Amino acid sequence: MKICVLPGDGIGPEIMAEAVRVIEALDLKFELEEALLGGAAVDATGDPYPEATRKLAREADAVLLGAVGGPKWDSLPREQRPERGLLGIRKDLCLFANLRPAILYPELANASTLKPEVVSGLDILIVRELTGDIYFGQPRGIENRNGERYGFNTMHYTESEIRRIGRVAFEAARKRNKRLCSVDKMNVLETTQLWRDVMTELSPEYPDVELTHMLVDNAAMQLVRAPKQFDVMVTGNMFGDILSDEASMLTGSIGMLPSASLDANNKGLYEPSHGSAPDIAGKGVANPLATILSAAMMLRYTFNNEAAAVRVETAVKKVLAQGYRTGDIYEPGTMKVGTKQMGDAVLAAL
Ligand code: NAD
Repeated sequence: MKICVLPGDGIGPEIMAEAVRVIEALDLKFELEEALLGGAAVDATGDPYPEATRKLAREADAVLLGAVGGPKWDSLPREQRPERGLLGIRKDLCLFANLRPAILYPELANASTLKPEVVSGLDILIVRELTGDIYFGQPRGIENRNGERYGFNTMHYTESEIRRIGRVAFEAARKRNKRLCSVDKMNVLETTQLWRDVMTELSPEYPDVELTHMLVDNAAMQLVRAPKQFDVMVTGNMFGDILSDEASMLTGSIGMLPSASLDANNKGLYEPSHGSAPDIAGKGVANPLATILSAAMMLRYTFNNEAAAVRVETAVKKVLAQGYRTGDIYEPGTMKVGTKQMGDAVLAAL
């Protein structure tokens, strides 16, 4: 069982070091091999997704990623930017399904900007399509037309792309509270009318799952008004990008939230939902729990080891109950710790 480890940029290497310690402590005989992605890869090879990384990622059973990007690379040509590495690996590994849970741990109820009664007990799963939509559509670009600059992108989905992400979402809802809300903008965008049609066509195959539809603007509003109405939400790449960040902030800290991106065979790329946090990189203060919880998702979805996943998740809950907090989730009366101390606490709890 081989894991490709991609620490990436910014806080990536710091949080990844803690996740690796946790994986090694489980003593499950994984082979871990490290490679470069993002800005670190651009610096070393000129390519955000170099050939050596591609080879390792393809042959590994799972990929664990820190985060990529940072201001240092923001002025590079678009094809050399770190984000291209991320989009490239997702596309290369055919990772079309992004699963992002937003769970509010009771100890962190005060970290949310929403009233505790609105968010306490929150447990939703956002399923985002990851390889299609306007993020990949051609033609795209910025051109000079009629004497001024003209920017354009193309939104599209095939019905088979919609169907395969729909199936992942229906299956996920089946394992939870059996409610699926599909999010679109069918009143304006034809692509998303097709999205709604295909989701509706799939529904009879899952009679135990209640399917509802919601327009994306309303969904954004409902997520802050009454988020507990949702169980599983499914949506396209761009809407999912925005809604999953919104959902993660309901919980108070993006530093707590893992994610999984899966292919058709449950091979996956696992990464925290947050970015490379250049503002705190190198300071040893980043929260490693999202990365550690991403490793737990890896144990569950790719390695089918529910017991090990629960063991890691239970250790995280325990350190929160013990009062350990990194700066992003700190509140008076708790113990402020750095990245490594948080890793130590999780290892002790394991
Ligand atoms: P970000 O998630 O990196 O940071 C947003 C805020 O949250 C910052 O204040 C940061 O300090 C804080 N934060 C994030 N993770 C944290 C953690 N683990 N512990 C404590 N605090 C944490 O988002 P951004 O600032 O918009 O983006 C920074 C860079 O990351 C950009 O280059 C962006 O392109 C990249 N990015 C990468 C990914 C990815 O690799 N998947 C995702 C989003 C953004």
